[in-house]
Amino acid sequence: MNLIGEKELLQKLKSNFGYDSFRLEQQKIVENILAKKDTLVIMPTGGGKSICFQLPALCFDGITLVISPLIALMKDQVDSLKANGIPATYFNSSQSSEEQQQVFDAVVNKEVKLLYVAPESLPFLQNILNQNYISCIAIDEAHCISSWGHDFRPSYKQLAFLKKSLPEVPVVALTATADKATQEDILEQLAIPHATRYVSSFNRENIALEVRPANDRVNQIIKFINKRGNESGIVYCLSRKATEQLANKLSQNGIKAKAYHAGLSFEERSSIQEDFIKDDIPIICATIAFGMGIDKSNVRWVIHYNMPKNIEGYYQEIGRAGRDGLASHALLFHSYADVIQLRQFIAKTGNQEVQDAKLERMKQFAEATVCRRRILLSYFGELVEDDCGNCDVCKNPPQFFDGTLIAQKALSAIYRLKGKEAMGTVIDVLRGAQNAAVLDKNYNTLKTYGVGKDISWRDWQHYMIQLINQGFCQIAFHLNNTLQLTAFSEKVLFKGEKVRLTVPTVLQKETPAQKKVQKKKATTKDTLFERLRKLRYQIAQEEDIAAYLVFSDATLRELETQRPQTDNEFLAISGVGQRKLEVYGGEFMEEIRSFIKEKKKGKKDTTLETYKLYQEGFSVEEIAIQRGLKEQTIFSHLAKLYLEGKDISLDKFIDTNTLKLIQNAKKVLKNETALKPYFEFLGEKVSYEQIRIGLTILQKKTI
Ligand code: ADP
Ligand code: ZN
Repeated sequence: MNLIGEKELLQKLKSNFGYDSFRLEQQKIVENILAKKDTLVIMPTGGGKSICFQLPALCFDGITLVISPLIALMKDQVDSLKANGIPATYFNSSQSSEEQQQVFDAVVNKEVKLLYVAPESLPFLQNILNQNYISCIAIDEAHCISSWGHDFRPSYKQLAFLKKSLPEVPVVALTATADKATQEDILEQLAIPHATRYVSSFNRENIALEVRPANDRVNQIIKFINKRGNESGIVYCLSRKATEQLANKLSQNGIKAKAYHAGLSFEERSSIQEDFIKDDIPIICATIAFGMGIDKSNVRWVIHYNMPKNIEGYYQEIGRAGRDGLASHALLFHSYADVIQLRQFIAKTGNQEVQDAKLERMKQFAEATVCRRRILLSYFGELVEDDCGNCDVCKNPPQFFDGTLIAQKALSAIYRLKGKEAMGTVIDVLRGAQNAAVLDKNYNTLKTYGVGKDISWRDWQHYMIQLINQGFCQIAFHLNNTLQLTAFSEKVLFKGEKVRLTVPTVLQKETPAQKKVQKKKATTKDTLFERLRKLRYQIAQEEDIAAYLVFSDATLRELETQRPQTDNEFLAISGVGQRKLEVYGGEFMEEIRSFIKEKKKGKKDTTLETYKLYQEGFSVEEIAIQRGLKEQTIFSHLAKLYLEGKDISLDKFIDTNTLKLIQNAKKVLKNETALKPYFEFLGEKVSYEQIRIGLTILQKKTI
């Protein structure tokens, strides 16, 4: 069994899954499992955990039993395997007894390679839980076994019996949860203390990171989406109400979106999830309940409408974007109001200290003035030397300035307001606002009233947050979130301490022209990618599977650029294995061929268009203007038409002398076809147009 060499593994990887090489540590992991050793795999979401146990499953004699927490996830994985021609099935309690019997028969007759099951259903599998049938056990989402993890599931607790009753069978635990305590716990609970560990980097470099202030976020989101055509994305919101309001707003703006939250019925939720997976609905506004059971590889962006509670959650949620490895985007909106709300949530739960500290780290991430990916990775214990170049801080480094005067104004306003007002009123006073909150309390008589008129509300908010972060003032959460001075304040107010602030980022206002361009962009173009995408969608509908299971976006992109025309060329595309070639190859190549043909026809039409105008007696210059093309292009059309035998008198565009010069050059240059050598040979005195015309005439003569 463990004699399978590298070459054979690679060959199996290609023919069954369509991939040319292993990612990260996949190969080592596969080899370790084939050597029947217990294995712990820590890999980020989208890292490629499935291959780690699915490939060995093909080499083992018996089945690989896969424990997975969610039925939806199981179905998806089984569909995906089947799409690749790998026999797999699942067992669950909602199946009829006949269906369950079929599953057993398939195992006993060795007709399937993988069997997926939820831990709750394991007791029903007693009759096949022995070494005759089972060669390997994979435990997906293994962190669910640990109460340290964030997804603890009691049904995972009983899994230790597997190793005890099948000691010879290798157990593979897989998870995307990085923290050490959970890792240890997994090994202990599964009774595999000596498992080999493989911990991959958590860097998902294809996901661009961006944080923006939350002002007017709905409009920001609409613009963000409009720029991205019909790409799939998820917007995470904190409350059910927010998901519904946002989905409505988006729909009103012509964007297809649905809300998803725990308040919906089970049926509603599964149908929305299904529609999303099948690319019927591109955008979901969801509470965090969404996404856990989704493997969809072509989610192109994730937006956090509200700030998540901690970095683990944030990381897990953005990880749902770009599993296919293509460029993707994570946008987080940062608002102080969210932080306050989260603090209040936390205050009501146990374990407050830990959660507060985690929220603090999240806030630091959102307010960072250094590479955000470095912060993210250092949180997971990975030290990174270089800035990533793919986050907003790297792309647009903040600029600092001496903000001492601004700080003094702000702090003295807080001082005069005696620490009794929250940030909103403090800013109103600074800006000299005339609203009731200010006038009723006679704040307009304060010395600091209106001293910050010249700074916009939004910028004041930006500076205030920085002052809070630097400890020059603080929010008293227990006293209606009022702003108060701290021990540091007096350094600024009385001791001349300098304060550094960053220049607020400018939200780009769009000119009408830009808006127009964006509208245009959002409507889908007739590109080959779009055509292939449509075809993929149709096939997925017919087969009733998720669109990305037919081919991933990455595969479609490669098909678009490579345009394979033969079976061998098609098979060379990453993501195309033997079965997908056989089942889908024909249709996709047909689509590519007809696309190429149409484009060619389009070109032909353009020369005919020129011909029509020529026949109507227009000059080359006039035709060029009418058609919005260069004269040079019109000349090339005429040359082509001339060669095709159309009635064009090219002679009138060239005098006999020049034609003779070109004829002479042609002899010397031994019938060279490129224009440049002629241009040079003729001392750069004859234009390219003339050379082209001359050569065309001469060519016709020799034909
Ligand atoms: P995880 O379970 O770790 O979240 P998956 O196993 O679902 O990740 O894989 C994520 C994506 O990466 C899938 O689209 C999968 O097809 C792709 N993938 C996995 N391994 C490879 C590989 N060796 N080469 C190319 N793509 C791969
Ligand atoms: Zn960066």
